[in-house]
Parts: sequence; C-alpha cells; structure tokens
Amino acid sequence: TSFTCAEDAKPERKGSNKINVLLVDGQNNHDWKRCSPVMISTLEATGRFAIESATVTKDKVAGFSPDFTKYDVVLSNYNGASWPDKTKSAFVKYIQEGGSLVVVHAADNSFPNWKEYNQMIGLGGWGGRNEKHGPYVYWKDGKVVRDNSKGRGGSHGRPWEYKVIVRKADHPITRGLPTEFLQAKEELYDRLRGPAENMTILATALAKGGSERHEPVLMTISYGKGRIFHTVMGHDHKSMHGVAFQETLIRGTEWAATGEVTFKPVTDEVLPADRAVSRNPEDIKPAH
Ligand code: ZN
Repeated sequence: TSFTCAEDAKPERKGSNKINVLLVDGQNNHDWKRCSPVMISTLEATGRFAIESATVTKDKVAGFSPDFTKYDVVLSNYNGASWPDKTKSAFVKYIQEGGSLVVVHAADNSFPNWKEYNQMIGLGGWGGRNEKHGPYVYWKDGKVVRDNSKGRGGSHGRPWEYKVIVRKADHPITRGLPTEFLQAKEELYDRLRGPAENMTILATALAKGGSERHEPVLMTISYGKGRIFHTVMGHDHKSMHGVAFQETLIRGTEWAATGEVTFKPVTDEVLPADRAVSRNPEDIKPAH
C-alpha cells in the first residue's frame, strides 16, 4: 500500500505554467483541417501555449458544451452552425467575467445574428450582415470612420501581398512590431460591419481592388471584463505560414489571455515592409 501526502498530490495539470487555449473548429467555409494545425504548431513552437481542440462538426454542435472557464483563451477558427443556447449563454458569461477570445479570419463570418458575438468581434462579414448590424468601419486621414451607409457587410478583392500599417503603436501587441510589414499572399477582408463598440484598431491595410479603403486588419475589443483579439489575416494554410500572421497571432493570443505580451520585439528583418516572408512553424524559436 502506498500513501500519498498532500504535497506529493499536487495535480499535474497539463500545461499548468502555460496559457491554456481552446481551439474551436470543425466547420468553416475555409479549409480548417489544414489551417488549424498551422495555428497549433505556431503557438506550440513558442513554448508558451498548451492547446486543446474542440472539433465541432455539424453532428457535434448539439452536444457542444465545453467548460470555457478551464481555458485562458478561446481561439476561434469556427464559421458554422449556431451553438446551443445554453452554450452561447455560457460563452457570453465566460467572456463577460474576464475570459478571452481570439477571432481568426472567417470566424468573423460566423453567427451573424448572435448579438453578443457581434459585440465581441466588433466587425464581421457575410451571413446577411448589412447596415442593421452596424456601420462600416475604416481608417481615413488618421481617424476612424464609422460609415452608416446601406450595403452588405463583407467582401474582398483578389489575393495579394498586402501591407499592414500599424495605427496604434503603443499597444502591447503592436509595441514589438515593425510599423509596416507585408503579409503573405491572401485575400484581404473589406467592408466588414458590426457594432464596433469598445474596439481599438491596431493596424489597417489598403484594400486595393476591393473597397480601396484602409481596412481594419488587427483589432482589440473589450466586452465586459473580457479581452478579444480579432485578426482578419489567415485565409488559408499557406498564408498562415506568413510571418505576419504568425507573429500577430502569437502576440495577440498572449495579450488576450493575459493582458500582456512577454515576447521579444519582432525586428523588421524578421518581418519586413518590402517583401512577404513565410516560414514553417517548426522554425519558430521557443521564447519562454
Ligand atoms: Zn478567406
């Protein structure tokens, strides 16, 4: 017989010194099966995050009822069917009470008529979004424009290597980034609409061949006591190899989870303004 004293019985919680991430995927009009592994590898390579996945395929939606409070942050790569009402309520409560959310690309297409979700993500597109969902929000002459004109929410031009311009350099996420950098070739969302309350635009990109406006690319939103990081980057697994996508995902996820960013600044050699750089997540060096 063996006895275990209290001190030896400390729970071996997986990743107890790491940020616990719940990645939600399983439905998306994008190739989530190839995208999610790139996000997982990118975050895990830093040594800072422990990720669990909730793969919410259509047949699993009705039973989707995780304990969100077990996680420091929920990372959504989900664009699909509505969750059960009690799961939606639990999620709203989790965020309101200080939970965290990271919204990647088409996750902002999801749940067009879930009011609280639209408040959390600030802006969204498609799914019938229009002027009833909120204004178009973009950047012009050094200011945020809220444009209430009628029209659909969500469109994009052809894929290209777009330039991301930091508009708020004194935020923990952007403080360690070059002021301008290129993302790997992909579509750039434009004409998103939403309540855009308590939202800060950290970076924009000019939507050439699309709205021709400087469109929000990186945003933070506060909802109750919760922190949300929203990135429109990350259309496919190739563009998720873009260093711009990776570094902003890493910094944004840590910020959402903790309110701080402890990663070293990203130099303009790593993330240049004159060429789009990609890398395998395996080549990301552990930072902690
Ligand atoms: Zn896309």
